Amino acid sequence: MTASYPVDERNRVKRLGKRATYDRDAIYPILDTALLCHIAYVVDGQPYCTPTAFWREGDTLFWHGSSASRMLRAQADGIPVCLTVTHMDGLVMARSGFNHSINYRSVMAFGTARRIEDSAEKRHAMDAFVERFFPGRNAALREPTGQEVKATSILSMEIEQASAKIRATGPGDDEEDFALPIWAGVVPLRTVIGAPEDCPRLPAGLVPGADLAAYREGRVVDEAFLETYRRGYADE
Ligand SMILES: Cc1cc2nc3c(=O)[nH]c(=O)nc-3n(C[C@H](O)[C@H](O)[C@H](O)COP(=O)(O)OP(=O)(O)OC[C@H]3O[C@@H](n4cnc5c(N)ncnc54)[C@H](O)[C@@H]3O)c2cc1C
Repeated sequence: MTASYPVDERNRVKRLGKRATYDRDAIYPILDTALLCHIAYVVDGQPYCTPTAFWREGDTLFWHGSSASRMLRAQADGIPVCLTVTHMDGLVMARSGFNHSINYRSVMAFGTARRIEDSAEKRHAMDAFVERFFPGRNAALREPTGQEVKATSILSMEIEQASAKIRATGPGDDEEDFALPIWAGVVPLRTVIGAPEDCPRLPAGLVPGADLAAYREGRVVDEAFLETYRRGYADE
């Protein structure tokens, strides 16, 4: 496997190309610090862009949903999709409205969706989804019923090409504006883990287990997702 994805007209960043990278080493961490993505696809000329949960194994992305979902039924036939992930890292406050910006890390990944039909492969993927975010949790869960497996569709996509774009700097004001008496800078934004809230119907005496160890209160969620990813796929 090469270090970078192949680049052509589909994934070459044209606007502000200096913010772009095609390296797996930069793209994987942006994917692995996310649980949410948006998947864009076209059915009968109509574009849809559906938010959902996903995970990565090597160069393959997986997402799941109800077998009755239009998105999953449409994608099962092997249509081209573009999966995007965006992290918002900061509000960039400039000395003019025009130069205000946002610090971000984003990825666009291209490929062809494929529904996993083989039942053993599907069961493996269903377990992998839980395990990837909550290592060890499957062992404590009741087995899925046949109906639950049937009602779930899992799609996967080999990443054919991808690009990342990253902005991680202060305001890019016009030279003559820097001396203006206006506060400028960056307001960092983070998603932070809160204290677990018990289900109201929890039997007495139960507390979160080791499968939630990474999700410590006050921790930035990116760190927890990276830690659980590494625990699940340490041999990658
Ligand atoms: C939070 C946020 C705020 C933004 N604000 C602005 C803004 O105010 N103005 C603005 O012009 N742009 C903004 N962008 C960047 C925006 O995502 C696009 O990169 C930009 O608008 C150029 O789009 P385009 O289709 O012309 O890109 P092109 O360069 O023509 O796209 C070609 C290829 O480059 C890659 N690519 C393009 N954008 C991205 C991306 N963001 N991440 C990963 N790959 C990418 C894709 O593979 C795409 O197919 C913002 C992005 C984020 C995440």
